Amino acid sequence: MGDPQGINNDRRLDVLSLYPKDMNIYGDSGNVLTVTRRIECYGYQPVVHSYNQGDAWPNHIDIVLGGGGQDSGQRKIQDDFMARSDQLHALVEAGTPMLVVCGLYQLFGKYFETIDGYRIPGIGIFDAITVGRKKRLIGNIVEDSSDFGTIVGYENHSGQTFLREGTEPLASVKQGEGNNLDDSTEGARVNNVIGTYLHGSLLPKNPEISDFLIRRAAELRYGAFEPVITPESGANIERLDRFANRARKVAESRPR
Ligand code: GLN
Repeated sequence: MGDPQGINNDRRLDVLSLYPKDMNIYGDSGNVLTVTRRIECYGYQPVVHSYNQGDAWPNHIDIVLGGGGQDSGQRKIQDDFMARSDQLHALVEAGTPMLVVCGLYQLFGKYFETIDGYRIPGIGIFDAITVGRKKRLIGNIVEDSSDFGTIVGYENHSGQTFLREGTEPLASVKQGEGNNLDDSTEGARVNNVIGTYLHGSLLPKNPEISDFLIRRAAELRYGAFEPVITPESGANIERLDRFANRARKVAESRPR
């Protein structure tokens, strides 16, 4: 059961936060807070590993979370990120759930060519390319997905992403722009990996996506998702969901 640090190894879930120093804008660190909070509510024990350039890679990873960043931040991490490509691909193939937002979503594709013509290579988990354009796409966004129902968030990007044939989008846009100005798609899905442009933070407003990540992580590590919910943690989940609904309503009603 417990180890000297008091970690319950029968119920722990290891969360990797990718590049929180350079890839973390518009509140993306809220995704890490939300996942860890909900993991606790379900009676599991979250252990968060923050991975920045040059850090040691954790021995075990159950969930990967990555945020957005300025073009300059994306350029800064590119070499280190490419050096981690094989490890990330192996996790994807093993079915590890991941959420990557905006800047890291772009770099989970083949490449991001910035507005000044510099091509930042991606690790190619998504068969998609991104090209920087003059018009930034900014504002609240509402979209329909088959797996998570209506997803609500906030986008702010110059890069426009184009999915190549055979790559599934995460959702289709109802209000806002999404991947690009041409095709009403937003984000991408492969295995248990979700790529999206949505900040907000995304997860506090979209509990279904948090629960998907946690459920898949528990299934993969322990064979089943078996939440242990106390009256107190049950009340906490209800409260989180109530706040989420209110935040979603506000975002949905605000003009861009
Ligand atoms: N720098 C990228 C762009 O502008 C990503 C921005 C972001 O992560 N919000 O497209």
